[in-house]
Amino acid sequence: MADSTPTPEALTQIDLHPPDRDWRDPAVAFRKGTFCYPANPKHLEYLGLANPRKWQPTDADWHLPENWRQIILKGLEERLAKYRSFRLFMDICVRCGACADKCHFYLGSGDPKNMPVLRAELIRSVYRRYFTTAGRLFGPLAGGRELTEQVLKEWFYYFYQCTECRRCSVFCPYGIDTAEVTMIGRELLNLVGCNINWVLEPVANCYRTGNHLGIQPHGFKDSIDFAVDELAEMTGVRVEVPINKKGAEVLFVTPSADYFGTPHYFTLLGYFTLFHEIGLDFTMSAFASEGGNFGLFTSHEMVKRLNAKIYMEARRLGVKWILGGECGHMWRVLHQYMDTMNGPADFLEVPTSPVTGTRFEHARSTKMLHICEFTADLIRNGKLRLDPSRNAHWRVTFHDSCNPSRAMGLLEEPRYILRQVCPSFHEMPENTIREQTFCCGSGAGLGTDENLEMRLRGGFPRANAVRYVHERYGVNLLACICAIDKATLPPLLEYWVPGVEVAGVHELVGNALVMRDEGPRTADLRGTPLAGGEGPTHA
Ligand code: SF4
Ligand code: SF4
Repeated sequence: MADSTPTPEALTQIDLHPPDRDWRDPAVAFRKGTFCYPANPKHLEYLGLANPRKWQPTDADWHLPENWRQIILKGLEERLAKYRSFRLFMDICVRCGACADKCHFYLGSGDPKNMPVLRAELIRSVYRRYFTTAGRLFGPLAGGRELTEQVLKEWFYYFYQCTECRRCSVFCPYGIDTAEVTMIGRELLNLVGCNINWVLEPVANCYRTGNHLGIQPHGFKDSIDFAVDELAEMTGVRVEVPINKKGAEVLFVTPSADYFGTPHYFTLLGYFTLFHEIGLDFTMSAFASEGGNFGLFTSHEMVKRLNAKIYMEARRLGVKWILGGECGHMWRVLHQYMDTMNGPADFLEVPTSPVTGTRFEHARSTKMLHICEFTADLIRNGKLRLDPSRNAHWRVTFHDSCNPSRAMGLLEEPRYILRQVCPSFHEMPENTIREQTFCCGSGAGLGTDENLEMRLRGGFPRANAVRYVHERYGVNLLACICAIDKATLPPLLEYWVPGVEVAGVHELVGNALVMRDEGPRTADLRGTPLAGGEGPTHA
């Protein structure tokens, strides 16, 4: 952490008194540590986005296009006509306040504009002013606000302090999804060139090379080869990882962080041990070398553009179905949008496990299966030899990543797997897990360095629940199934709960898996010596 990072004691002094000024006052102080840097103009140019230029949120003049107000209002009008849910969310909030204290950014900052109801109101007030009769006639008396430059700056500040996690929607009696309001808010900001680098750089890279990191096909192959070599050293087994293999049964797509980030990389090793052991006929693609999709944090159009490569590669390679690795937002896109957005995938088959014969009917439409569903089925059918004692050095809890839990209801499979591969598993408190899980505080493209204070504040409720199981049960490992979580939770926990590490579920599977042809295993997949022990529990 930088020296300028406030201490945990300072950050927990959260002032919950309402400010003196009227909430309609849009003035924002862009304080270091709480906002993200704008996108480099070269990324906007590459993507064909509006108004590429150098600017800073702290500048008085944001160099907006001359007709910026008309652009935004026209964009708002189009989106009100196009997205019925958005129009509904603009109209039906009764300001009951049930969502008010459910956002991690409000809990960690005490800033009322981080209450979901007020975050949405920032745009709703403009909607009222320009798109309702009462607002046109009575303006502020009808809850309307003029669209001024100051309002636009306020949108930028608060729509990039929302991780689109959807926790608030779980508690709203009307099901208002503030994440969708934020998504529209960001789309509108994009129309006048107000976007952040941490989102648009990965988007531009992905558009150019197929992955967020901008890795070229030969670089992708090198990293996979490196993982194969390392795995051979650790286990005595040389696995095969085909790339661009035509006619394979399964296309495997995973976030690029899995082959470049830590601790993601250990999860990648876990996938490969599993595929080797069951003899899966799979291939990776050097072109669909990214499951993640930061288009989701940019615009609906960008989601579609970046995601198209997955079905295109599945078609080109002639696979039967697609298997997806551990990622959060990737699964929101795949599960909720892909089939209608990039499909129909009528050239693929309903995913069927070649080992157990299980036909995954729920994936009939997308033809894409989550690796936790696949592995849980293998374990349930007794197809894996597992030695949980190889994870005996870990006392594990599970963080439900926002998108797999709230967007696709993937709640049981990761827990089932963890209970089978780890001897010590403890849940965090009930109101912080499953559908009610707390966000890592850095999703939706906010996992950058310059806004670290805000990330630490937003991650405080999550870390607080981890602290509970750490102190009560000695938990020293937080398992999760999201690439962003694996990148952002380690510094968060180092700050709030030192002594707890982060791992993917399939790293723990890879540790426990007893491969038929393996040599003596003395260390786990990250090189930590094994405690040794109890022998396989599943024959
Ligand atoms: S819970 Fe729903 S209806 Fe109530 S204030 Fe929040 S968004 Fe509005
Ligand atoms: S989606 Fe998440 S971050 Fe955004 S307002 Fe709701 S709870 Fe807060």
